[in-house]
Amino acid sequence: MAVTATETNRRTTRQRAAVAQALVDHAEFVSAQELHEVMGRSGNRVGLTTVYRALQDLERAGRADVVRDTVGEKLYRCRPEAEHRHYLICRRCRRDEPLDTGVVEEWVAAVVRSTGFTEVEHTLELTGICDGCRNGGGPDGVAPVRFPG
Ligand SMILES: [Zn+2]
Ligand SMILES: [Zn+2]
Repeated sequence: MAVTATETNRRTTRQRAAVAQALVDHAEFVSAQELHEVMGRSGNRVGLTTVYRALQDLERAGRADVVRDTVGEKLYRCRPEAEHRHYLICRRCRRDEPLDTGVVEEWVAAVVRSTGFTEVEHTLELTGICDGCRNGGGPDGVAPVRFPG
């Protein structure tokens, strides 16, 4: 029996929901490839392309925080409902430090007021090398995460 477009859509929707759930379950920033592996290990067979697309959708919908690792690969983390935060991320071990960015939010609000724009969105990405990594090794003596490539 041929697979209809509706069935394909339904499967895609289900797979994307599974990716979203996997991201929720993953406490740390994760790349599409890593999430794909994590899902595979727990018996969730979803194509890597689907994982990439689902993560992009989550990013666009404002449901994921995104940073880039040392080689420019995007790392994703689920953004808790209604919580808007910015982080300083270590490019080596991915340790993250939530930032007090009230001054940024106030500035954005002022821009919105003065321009009359609606649905204004912003992203703010800060990355660096944490003190643990700077002093050799990762935090708590754990070796830094090795990025592929
Ligand atoms: Zn670090
Ligand atoms: Zn913000």
